[in-house]
Amino acid sequence: MLILGVVLVAGAVVLFILQPLIKGIHASLEREDDELTETEARKRVALLALRDVEYDFLAGKLDEEDYRSMKSRLTAEALAALEADEVARAGGGVVAADDIEAEIANLRYGLRSGFSCPACAFTNGEGSRFCSACGLSLGERVAT
Ligand SMILES: [Zn+2]
Repeated sequence: MLILGVVLVAGAVVLFILQPLIKGIHASLEREDDELTETEARKRVALLALRDVEYDFLAGKLDEEDYRSMKSRLTAEALAALEADEVARAGGGVVAADDIEAEIANLRYGLRSGFSCPACAFTNGEGSRFCSACGLSLGERVAT
């Protein structure tokens, strides 16, 4: 009787463990990194390196001089990677210029309609009563 109970419990445990296999549930073999473009990967690597240098300096593993030289080099790399990524995303300078024009038009429209913040220029959602960025009451502006 005891043996039967042990066998039943063991069988239940094995079935529970094998449940994902029986149901055909499996983890995806694709990693998030697979979706990265080259410029995105470079940007990510540069930013991670910058963070690591910062961390090493705070932890006392780097002296001030090394920290400064590494930081300026990595910052330049990160900025170059960021710019390359922006250009790659926009698909070239012409589209980037169009994006800027659209941004300016959007800002103008926001200021005219009174939902862009006069203090920080943040474009809030239409009908906003307070600035999402700085908290200024957008209705106040009309009163003053
Ligand atoms: Zn604001």
